[in-house]
Amino acid sequence: MRLKTLFASTISAAALVLGGCAGGSTSAMLLTGTLYTGFTRIDPVARSVAEDSWVVVQEGRIAAFGSDEPPRGAFSAVQDMTGLYALPGFIDVHGHLTAGPHAIEFVDGQPVLTIESVDEITEFHARMALAFGVTTVRNPGSDPEASAAYDQRVSTGEWLGPRTYHAGSVIQPPPYGGSAFAYPRTEEEWQAEAARQAALGMTYFKLYHSLTEAQLETGARVAREHGLEPIAHLDQVSWTRAAELGVTGFLHAMPTSADLLEPGAREDYINVRGMDARFMYQWFERVEFDGPLMQELFSTLAETGANVDLTLQVNALVTGPEGFERVYPPEDQPYFHPRTLSGLQQMLAMNGGDWTDEDTRRSQAALLRSFEFAQRLDAAGIPLGIGTDGPGGGPAYATELGLLADAGFSSWRILELATVGGATVMGLENETGRWAVGLDADLVFLRNNPLEAITHARNAAWVMTDGSLHSFEDLTWDVQLQPAALQSD
Ligand SMILES: [Zn+2]
Repeated sequence: MRLKTLFASTISAAALVLGGCAGGSTSAMLLTGTLYTGFTRIDPVARSVAEDSWVVVQEGRIAAFGSDEPPRGAFSAVQDMTGLYALPGFIDVHGHLTAGPHAIEFVDGQPVLTIESVDEITEFHARMALAFGVTTVRNPGSDPEASAAYDQRVSTGEWLGPRTYHAGSVIQPPPYGGSAFAYPRTEEEWQAEAARQAALGMTYFKLYHSLTEAQLETGARVAREHGLEPIAHLDQVSWTRAAELGVTGFLHAMPTSADLLEPGAREDYINVRGMDARFMYQWFERVEFDGPLMQELFSTLAETGANVDLTLQVNALVTGPEGFERVYPPEDQPYFHPRTLSGLQQMLAMNGGDWTDEDTRRSQAALLRSFEFAQRLDAAGIPLGIGTDGPGGGPAYATELGLLADAGFSSWRILELATVGGATVMGLENETGRWAVGLDADLVFLRNNPLEAITHARNAAWVMTDGSLHSFEDLTWDVQLQPAALQSD
């Protein structure tokens, strides 16, 4: 009844109503909205490629899609996307979209590491994330007030950026400080911090690497009590133990806890380990993936359903001077805010300023071991997502996809992880990340086929978020103004 009224009032050109509804389920459905035609549809779930495809987007959702003859309907617009390759929008499960540059500040004469949010930087990176096809982000930690403000600005259209689900201030003792970090000490303080983050609309509660097992247990508990999901970047405590304590998501393919090394190797690691970044390769040199402790880790994660984000570029970054060049090559640098890049370079210099050729050789070998670790996680059936640990993706997202290819993942598997895999890690598989009628119209239209070379994922022509279409050029207008910026060809 209601539908009939709607019919009559909105459509005069009823004669146009007809035609195929994709998915073949609905019969006499009236198609309105916008029709996009002519593109090649890449479906990472079905692992299928369909040339000459079309999609109807209505009220921000995928209303219908198919191949060959486009449907007839009362469309407000028809847009030809011939020559482009369309996929669900990419998902960065580790993008600190609202974090500002890393900085060292002095408080009472003590150095404090901060990542204070800066509106201008956030607005820029949000646009760059979208420009490179990232439509959904998990932000694992920054100032929750800035993140709440981000959500508000994106929902009103003031800013253009991916839909983002945030962790608030990261729980970590000094020397980490400022509004991006918090360190509750009493039960009351833990409760108050989790309550504050929940009230600001955060989704996750991020527990960081220097916490003790008791603190991790408290953190996972208070997170759940306040409806937040406990996720962790760990070093002291093993992932196995943390999963048992209720942590549901693990960040970075570097579970560098001594507790995951077999006896002998463990004591050795504790003895050689210093304060700098060398511990990462020192851990990978000693880990035994087939040993009982790592096998227990794989089975515990699989049993608890805990997920892991692969940010292989973090592993690549700590391979010496070439690491930075690999992750942030000159042609990509204009798409990062200069203050973010310089903050990062400063941090890396502090960690690897005295890096020798020997360190480089060993860290490069460790990178190969981390590739193997990623493969082991995948083989164990552990849900994986793809992250950059940058400010929401940008060109580094395609760099990360390239690293997964280097790690031996097939192009189809990479595209699957980049879309539905990330959605699954974030519990959004019924909202985004797939070609399916009714899901959010989050799509990326690439200039080149990513199945031929995964790095083609870098060349987005258009990005659609909740049905709104934006061109790469429009989103990067200010970068295009820079004479030094390398234009994509
Ligand atoms: Zn991070």
